[in-house]
Amino acid sequence: MNSRNTKPERKVQKVLEKKNIYFLKHIKTLAGTPDLIIPSLKVIIDIKGCFWHQHGCIHSKLPKSNQIFWMNKFEKIKIKDVQNLTLNKEKGWKTFEIWECVTNDKIKLNEEINKVLQISEIYLNIQNSNQDSTDNLI
Ligand SMILES: [Zn+2]
Repeated sequence: MNSRNTKPERKVQKVLEKKNIYFLKHIKTLAGTPDLIIPSLKVIIDIKGCFWHQHGCIHSKLPKSNQIFWMNKFEKIKIKDVQNLTLNKEKGWKTFEIWECVTNDKIKLNEEINKVLQISEIYLNIQNSNQDSTDNLI
């Protein structure tokens, strides 16, 4: 769960590199040590393991034994995810999640990353134009 530079992470990094997007890895100064961030867009990309974060896809089936144990564990992970997201949001960072199973499909992954980039650019433009309008008021 805490392993760094996993296969899914490397796949996402590759796509960003191809697009010439500057990113940083494993940022300890943000809550939860995000896998990837894009500083220019103030975006966190959280690459989520389907099992540990219970995606609901075929890779996230609950083990047959010790189900209560697993459910408790998953619940704790979920709570932590929300806490991290909130803490980082307070610092002005938006979190986008990319599921591990999506990284196995090149086309899907590319679409997903395009979506992240588009949404964050729109968001950044809105922020900037709000900034401009308050500047005009002064
Ligand atoms: Zn999945």
